[in-house]
Amino acid sequence: MNTFSYTRAGDVATAVREVAADGAAKCIAGGTNLIDLMKENVERPSRLIDITRLPLAEIQPSADGGLRLGALVTNTDVAYDAQVERRYPLVSKAILAGASPQLRNMATVGGNLMQRTRCYYFYDTATPCNKRQPGTGCAAIDGFNRMHAILGPSAQCIAVHPSDMCVALAALEAVVRVTGPGGERAIPFAEFHRLPGDTPHLDTNLAADEIITAVDLPPKGFAAHYAYLKIRDRTSYAFALVSVAAALEMDGDTITEARLALGGVAHKPWRDRDAEARLKGQSATRDHFQRAANALLRDAKGFGHNNFKIELAQRAIGRALRQAAAGEEHP
Ligand code: SF4
Repeated sequence: MNTFSYTRAGDVATAVREVAADGAAKCIAGGTNLIDLMKENVERPSRLIDITRLPLAEIQPSADGGLRLGALVTNTDVAYDAQVERRYPLVSKAILAGASPQLRNMATVGGNLMQRTRCYYFYDTATPCNKRQPGTGCAAIDGFNRMHAILGPSAQCIAVHPSDMCVALAALEAVVRVTGPGGERAIPFAEFHRLPGDTPHLDTNLAADEIITAVDLPPKGFAAHYAYLKIRDRTSYAFALVSVAAALEMDGDTITEARLALGGVAHKPWRDRDAEARLKGQSATRDHFQRAANALLRDAKGFGHNNFKIELAQRAIGRALRQAAAGEEHP
């Protein structure tokens, strides 16, 4: 592991000042991903700024009638919060589908958004990886790419974003609140994570001198008709091959609004407004669900080992939409 210095920030202004002063510094909270990356020499920060003492560990009502999740609330505390369970069960369910209880007890809201891909080659410093070291190539494109992207990849990188919680936040159109030297700004969730393009080393649009302070859940939680379906190799503890967050508003059997977000298929939680629009005003039938799934996956492309994900995603979307429409509790 690389040598680094360690400081603890007592307030947001100090944390921002410290991270802005050193481009090679990293903030650390739960450390459930960053420490692993440092042990593997993938991340080599000059300094760790401990932000665990910042006053960002509250869940509070927001001014617009939604809920504000402080950046340092643990994943466990979000998932089991009474308001989240009642108003945003999609978020609870997605969080509980991810990681292990021990990891969820440590991992935070902000850290969940900032976690990095689990592409095997990204962690293996003996292999080329444009995300870890720009310009070296991508070992996954012609390598073992079973976990990799089928939507929105580039010739530079085909990695996927690993979070479950973020898939639910994308479907709900959450807003990320950040603070930097210039003050606060709000980033719509769809604009927070990036596609790889020619800059796969950049996962998000968070500037290097900004920190996440909160995630705002909008008033609408789709609590009556939702589903989070995660398909993975082991149900005990594994990243998604494909996951689907489905949220519907229904008037009888008619869909009045639909949200669909996919995990495990792209460099960011994947939403497709056109596929969602196809569901609006339609009855909740298998046929309509399958048409939406086909539309969402119209440009999907496999890289060999992950070709199976295209049909898997089509089927998972159909099943998640059926579960959401039925409004039942489901495993
Ligand atoms: Fe690196 Fe991305 Fe290629 Fe994985 S897919 S080896 S993270 S460039």
